[in-house]
Amino acid sequence: MKLSKVCVFGIEKELTFKNNINANVGDLVNVRVKNKIVRGVVIENLESNEENFYSEIISKENYSIDENSIKIAKWISDYYFCELYHSLKLFFPPNSLSMEKDYIKFSKKGFLKYNGSLSELEKKIIEKIKDKNYIRLSKFKPSQILIIEKLIEKGIIIKKRKIKKISSIEIKNLIDLSYPVKLPKKPNIEQALALSKILNGKKYLLFGPTGSGKTNIFIWLSQIILKENKGVIVLVPEISLSPHIARIFYEKFGDIVAIYHSSFTPSQRTYLWNEIKKGNKKIVIGPRSALFLPIKNLGLIIVDEEHESSYKQEEKKPYYNARDLSVLMSELYNATLILSSATPSIESYFNALRGKYELLKLKSRVKNYVYPSVEIVDLKKNIFLSSKLLNEIRQTLEKNNSVMIFFNRRGYSPVLICSDCGYVFKCNYCSVNLVFHKSIKGNYLECHICGRRYKVFEICPKCSSYNLKVVGFGTQRIEEELKNIFSNYEILRIDRDSIKNRKNLELIIRKIHSNYPKIIIGTQIIAKGFDLKDVKFAIVPNADLGLSVPDFRNYERNVQLLIQFIGRIRTGGLVYIQTYEPENEVFNFVKNIDYEGFLNYEIKKRKEMKFPPFYKLAIIEAKSKDETKAIELITEIYEKIKNENVEILGPAPAPIEKIKNYYRWRIILRSKSYKRIKEAIEKIKNYNVKVVIDPYDLM
Ligand SMILES: [Zn+2]
Ligand SMILES: [Zn+2]
Ligand SMILES: [Zn+2]
Repeated sequence: MKLSKVCVFGIEKELTFKNNINANVGDLVNVRVKNKIVRGVVIENLESNEENFYSEIISKENYSIDENSIKIAKWISDYYFCELYHSLKLFFPPNSLSMEKDYIKFSKKGFLKYNGSLSELEKKIIEKIKDKNYIRLSKFKPSQILIIEKLIEKGIIIKKRKIKKISSIEIKNLIDLSYPVKLPKKPNIEQALALSKILNGKKYLLFGPTGSGKTNIFIWLSQIILKENKGVIVLVPEISLSPHIARIFYEKFGDIVAIYHSSFTPSQRTYLWNEIKKGNKKIVIGPRSALFLPIKNLGLIIVDEEHESSYKQEEKKPYYNARDLSVLMSELYNATLILSSATPSIESYFNALRGKYELLKLKSRVKNYVYPSVEIVDLKKNIFLSSKLLNEIRQTLEKNNSVMIFFNRRGYSPVLICSDCGYVFKCNYCSVNLVFHKSIKGNYLECHICGRRYKVFEICPKCSSYNLKVVGFGTQRIEEELKNIFSNYEILRIDRDSIKNRKNLELIIRKIHSNYPKIIIGTQIIAKGFDLKDVKFAIVPNADLGLSVPDFRNYERNVQLLIQFIGRIRTGGLVYIQTYEPENEVFNFVKNIDYEGFLNYEIKKRKEMKFPPFYKLAIIEAKSKDETKAIELITEIYEKIKNENVEILGPAPAPIEKIKNYYRWRIILRSKSYKRIKEAIEKIKNYNVKVVIDPYDLM
């Protein structure tokens, strides 16, 4: 008898089923568990004489994954502490995971062709659906579904799943933001050298500034890989904000490119999954989840902007890091791996130094790119928008050039306070201050953690004073102040508020690429995606914004943003970086645009401070609407593992103590050895807590 181990979605332990339908490892199948029909994946076939099985596999779906995918899913489940079904789900199209998206219909043709016998129950079902259009399968009882599955096998009923085709016009609309792109022609000497070094199946860290032609290298490499009849996966942080790479790939390779855009619906994703599985698409470009698409004969994985924290999923299970998984994946498929960045992460650079990846440096920027000169301005001696700064803006505009301002805080003002009693307005559900926003539809306060909006209070709830005032700046307020001073010039603001809909985003991008002088103000979005030709003066009004955050990565993140921002400027000019601590060493690296110098400096600090990449971290978080319960739970966990061979930080509340009404208490495990962290976590596996390995979000 053939038995199979099946990982059933929603059930932690794998179960053994009788396999009479010849289901293979990797097949998506239907099984009956506790009077319900649910989906699962065959993860192992057993040859056995044992009669010990849970029940029978009912039928298989048209979806299957390869054995390497199962290996990776098991690795994710093991390393990141999640149930196997959570990680297996990553590999299947969204519409295949339950029968909610399945529809059935009677097939007259199939019925006429069938010449076997039919049972009474089968006849009854046929009678019931004969004259109807597609019916949702989940409307039937499990006992009926069993019969329906048999009729599907006999060809008398057809099953359909919601799948929506994506037209090439739709794709062009998504990535074509009506400014021209240049397709790469011939590699320059440095690029050719890098290309000649890149061999199949090896791992590389490609480290080159903005404008050094990294995208061109991706294109040339993909050409080589395609000639070998292999496939390519390109991971990017977010296509909608930086459509550049997707666009170049699409223009170069056409319809064999699958663009896995975040705006696609589950039905469209399912369509793309099928196209990739069939081999109609040979290149995939998308965010972290695109790593799990079934590209045929995988030969090359590119992780662009590999330092971006968006590769780590921490909002929902499994809490994996796609960049780290791409390393494992390239090994299993014997595919070449390129991690690429102008500002690599400490982890990847360190891995390159110790030989885990080969370091490929591109030093020169391509023709016409000139670095600006960077000046560090002391905010203790100058005001925020000093007259010197305003003069420089005016002169730049008068010379028909543009000005760019990077300020990483949206809204008008981060604090609304009562002048009489000092009361500060906070979110009712999160332990953070509300941000004041101006709007033509009426000003409002917004919580930037949970997104909740509040009407602007007119009186202080504590002392009933009308004397409320805003404190501090956001992008909106800078925009307003500059509009008063430079009323004759166009001022564009790019932040999550101003580009909420696509139309606005497109309009702003079009204006940015136009030729008249303007002022562009933006959050980190402008540090990431925009190439600006005529910017001659750029300002970071307060570079200290992110530095006070209690996160060991805050210097890394902020220096990355500053260097990326400076890298956006292509034609020389001047940059002002304003700070209250100009003596802080990191600003030297920024001034000299010496990111590698910063990396080496920061690596030393990480070693001293016992942080990654020298130590491994794991966060264990207990949350509850009742703070005492959260404390009790985390204390119980602490007691269970306090004698383990790992360092334990806490228990302590998270820096943001309350989010969406949940109090968050946690401990952080630290050790040089992942094994020790794992052993400790194994002891508390049955507790209802969030466990994040290699965390990125420490707030
Ligand atoms: Zn806001
Ligand atoms: Zn008051
Ligand atoms: Zn909130």
